[in-house]
Amino acid sequence: VKARHHYTRNTVSAALYCKKCGQETQHRIDGGRKGPCLPCMARLEANAANREPETEERQEVLFA
Ligand SMILES: [Zn+2]
Repeated sequence: VKARHHYTRNTVSAALYCKKCGQETQHRIDGGRKGPCLPCMARLEANAANREPETEERQEVLFA
């Protein structure tokens, strides 16, 4: 249990290899755990934004 690999709490992203990107990219770190690839997430968000123009509304709810 002690050998678990954890990132520091301050780390919000780390360079890791992404199969989809075919290279090392920045990945989000969620609570010390490896998260999704940032360029891939940005692509998904861009696609989602193109499909549903309601992103601004959702952000307002999140930040309310
Ligand atoms: Zn990627």
